Amino acid sequence: MSFSNLVSDLALRDAREDRSSQISNVRSQATARSYTSTAATSVSISGDISSQLHAGYSHPLSRSWQAERQLTKEMLIYPLFITDNPDEETPIPSLPNQYRRGINRLVPYLRPLVNKGLRSVILFGVPLHPSAKDALGTSADDPAGPVIQAIRLIRSRFPQLYIVADVCLCEYTSHGHCGILREDDSLDNAQSVDRISDVALAYATAGAHCVAPSDMNDGRVRAIKLKLIEAGLAHRVLLMSYSAKFSGCLYGPFRDAAGSCPSLGDRKCYQLPPGARGLARRAIQRDVGEGADIIMVKPASSYLDIIRDAKELAPDMPIAAYQYRGDSKAGAGIVVSYFVPEFLDWL
Ligand SMILES: [Zn+2]
Repeated sequence: MSFSNLVSDLALRDAREDRSSQISNVRSQATARSYTSTAATSVSISGDISSQLHAGYSHPLSRSWQAERQLTKEMLIYPLFITDNPDEETPIPSLPNQYRRGINRLVPYLRPLVNKGLRSVILFGVPLHPSAKDALGTSADDPAGPVIQAIRLIRSRFPQLYIVADVCLCEYTSHGHCGILREDDSLDNAQSVDRISDVALAYATAGAHCVAPSDMNDGRVRAIKLKLIEAGLAHRVLLMSYSAKFSGCLYGPFRDAAGSCPSLGDRKCYQLPPGARGLARRAIQRDVGEGADIIMVKPASSYLDIIRDAKELAPDMPIAAYQYRGDSKAGAGIVVSYFVPEFLDWL
């Protein structure tokens, strides 16, 4: 994607958002002009959107991710499920030793892990309050919601801990799908991407070091990158894309944890069919071209070939593996795992 395309995309998107408002159009033209002039004068950001490299190494931890290594503590990202009930600490039956925790339980839980060398967490919001879900996933970027509160709290109490925010709507939508639905209950990709990129921007603005869209809507990586550029955050907020996310029964436990089981239909129309290696390769290449900084494969254990493919298609980019078992992943430089506390003891 060239920078002139980026400029026209910005203008188009802004025009679509608010055709009636002249002020908004004038502002978007001014924004577009500023990008044109920046592109013309700055060597570092002229060219493709995938030329935006700084976010990938703006933090000591993300710098370590750029090196090829054996398993180290720096490679590990630990998933945390944050509920909207501040004092809750409830085991998730299908994920042994994993809990849903309210905001008040986070610091006491994290402190010993941080002392053992925990470097990074990925946050999933688990709203349990009945009013927290609607068709648009409104509570996903609620400033008083569990994820944004957790980002702020962790930033203030553990400044060294690197915060990845999972970005999706399924935990927050009444129908449990990863986007906004049309009247016929199929996914409205354009609206979903617009909403999901807003949510990503809200997490980045709250202080997340990395946003990780897991929704699999087409074009969401580019939309998020554009909003990060516009907000002046693209140089320090890393974009980790779940590029190859396969549908399958392994997510049963995860849906249990995140409280995000679809109430109608399923996600097979946007998650990759099992074994769809060609689609996975296309999605990886697309996300690289749209400005992703890291490519994630989920679930890792059944898709070692896809991790190898990701390494081949994006050889110069860190590859992350979301794994459900305790084995380490050859080829992946970053491992998201429920076994991080055990790994911290072993390493
Ligand atoms: Zn989702």
